[in-house]
Amino acid sequence: MLRLDAVTVSFGERTALDAVDLEVAEHDTVCVLGPSGSGKSTLLRVVAGLQEVHSGRVLLSGQDQTGVPPHRRGVGLMFQDHQLFPQRDVAGNVGFGPRTHGMGRAEADRRVAELLDLVGLPGAGRRAVTALSGGEQQRVALARALAPEPRLLMLDEPLGQLDRGLRERLVVELRGLFRRLGTTVLAVTHDHGEAFALADRVVVMERGRIAQAGTPLEVWQRPASAFVARFLGFDN
Ligand code: ATP
Ligand code: MG
Repeated sequence: MLRLDAVTVSFGERTALDAVDLEVAEHDTVCVLGPSGSGKSTLLRVVAGLQEVHSGRVLLSGQDQTGVPPHRRGVGLMFQDHQLFPQRDVAGNVGFGPRTHGMGRAEADRRVAELLDLVGLPGAGRRAVTALSGGEQQRVALARALAPEPRLLMLDEPLGQLDRGLRERLVVELRGLFRRLGTTVLAVTHDHGEAFALADRVVVMERGRIAQAGTPLEVWQRPASAFVARFLGFDN
């Protein structure tokens, strides 16, 4: 349902994505792993339409997305740094997508309550997002990304700031949720455990290129290079 053909993005001298080819099948969860600066966030931004490509193309459901603005791509993106609307309360943030997509107030309220339960913030709808902890804000951002049920959900370090217990619980719940909704997911994480628990396929990035892509088991059992093996922590 998502395909990248030889996508290249550079910032001056620096090549953030170097002729990246990638396919994500419908209903699959793909996790992107890789060191800081390897191009993970850039990859998501390109698919979302927030970053122009210098060459190559992005296809969603077979359609070339060149020139298609972000809000017409049917994708959801949860940013690494959340970017919540500070002037809206929690419910206003989570319900933003459904409301702008024309969902009625009562249905949107029900959906917001459901999502807040899911992310472990039941009854938090009326709280100001500016008064939440970093981890709580992250959970609100996750609920907001899930709310419009996008055809492709992209998550950039969705659980990064959460403590281990909550992360482990959420990984299990998210996996169940994605299966149930049939959501196609492209998620960035630096946590291998999380990637291996969540993903149907994992993609390991190295300096703007895909060092390896495969099922978690394939990548784990047969790392394609010394870089991948090292990155997976076989020596730390
Ligand atoms: P992290 O794990 O730290 O979030 P990342 O894998 O998400 O890293 P990117 O944010 O995609 O990495 O960045 C890839 C490369 O592109 C880095 O070298 C970064 O400095 C560079 N880069 C990203 N965005 C810009 C920008 N707007 N202007 C200039 N350089 C950029
Ligand atoms: Mg990043």
